[in-house]
Amino acid sequence: MLLLPATMFHLLLVARSGPARLLGPPPYLPGPEVLWSPQMLLLWFTWLGLQAALYLLPAGKVAEGQELKDKSRLRYPINGFQALVLTALLVGLAVSAGLPLGALPEMLLPLAFAATLTAFIFSLLLYLKALVAPASALAPGGNSGNPIYDFFLGRELNPRIWSFDFKYFCELRPGLIGWVLINLALLMQEAELRGSPSLAMWLVNGFQLLYVGDALWHEEAVLTTMDITHDGFGFMLAFGDLAWVPFTYSLQAQFLLHHPQPLGLPMASVICVINAVGYYIFRGANSQKSTFRKNPSDPRVAGLETIPTATGRQLLVSGWWGMVRHPNYLGDLIMALAWSLPCGVSHLLPYFYLLYFTALLVHREARDEQQCLRKYGLAWHEYCRRVPYRILPYVY
Ligand code: NDP
Repeated sequence: MLLLPATMFHLLLVARSGPARLLGPPPYLPGPEVLWSPQMLLLWFTWLGLQAALYLLPAGKVAEGQELKDKSRLRYPINGFQALVLTALLVGLAVSAGLPLGALPEMLLPLAFAATLTAFIFSLLLYLKALVAPASALAPGGNSGNPIYDFFLGRELNPRIWSFDFKYFCELRPGLIGWVLINLALLMQEAELRGSPSLAMWLVNGFQLLYVGDALWHEEAVLTTMDITHDGFGFMLAFGDLAWVPFTYSLQAQFLLHHPQPLGLPMASVICVINAVGYYIFRGANSQKSTFRKNPSDPRVAGLETIPTATGRQLLVSGWWGMVRHPNYLGDLIMALAWSLPCGVSHLLPYFYLLYFTALLVHREARDEQQCLRKYGLAWHEYCRRVPYRILPYVY
């Protein structure tokens, strides 16, 4: 819990330093006057308030989540993509009215500090709220009795006040939309500094906007992810969603602002192809599974080979899910590579996301396998026998 914020601040400081050395000490240690700013705290809360207001707008459909322990299902608004579009319109209007968005990159340190502080206080409130929650509302993990562990992992599965679901709200909105907004601000500052944004900056902005737009377009899919169905809401997700995602996922654009990289059209085309291949696998695999889970007789998946399980659900063993056991992770990692390549190969720093994300997905894959083994038993063993590789064919 201390190391994650420390790493985030290290990355923010190193990205703007001349040598940009990932593995060295930070260029300087910022004092409280750099980190603490009441105006930035206010800006941060305004951002959270705006996203909360967009969440509450009665636009888009309402979907039901997975069945809970008490056999009930929660309802969730599916209007994340509308929130992205409305945010873009509001930001566009504000910029044309004179809002200096290009100044945002100078405020990243105090904003990240405000987000970190919010994550700690919010997690504490969530921990306290869980003390009065019924046992059926608690997550399978995060209730070990060790307060530090439980604070980190999160005790309550779906903490809500009335219909406002805190975990679902944080999962895709303030952090993901904030990430692309920071990217845009970096692009605008680069344009102010150098006359126009570089090709590398355009690519990083475009790829990451596609990723965020895709996640919000397919927002309903988040309802079946382990974050929503299994993990409690504690520091891990609160800090990850609110601070880590916007401030470290924008690292490539931060790096490019301070370390411009020449990029020719041929190389840019190769990088676009790599991103397109990654996206094709990522989207193909995620959509195939979600179509199959919604309706196994859908003509798009009805012809695929499956393994029956004792739960009545089936496992796909052909199509994307017959290639490796987590093809969606493979596509995601290929895209992560494409986001780093526009930054050249002179520095390790822009590859931090790829390295961190590989570790995250390898660990996540192992957690998911354990859960699937518990759920499906022998059928899962059979699936592993038929599809021996986890993420990368013939390697892992
Ligand atoms: P997945 O979408 O990979 O879902 C795993 C679940 O899929 C399993 O628990 C099982 O659930 C089902 N499943 C597994 N194998 C099969 C099969 N052969 N046939 C049918 N169903 C199967 O989970 P994640 O939430 O980890 O990932 C979702 C997406 O989010 C991924 O693309 C991932 O890359 C991305 N992601 C991105 C992050 C980021 O920071 N950028 C962080 C984390 C994830 P069941 O059988 O119960 O349906």
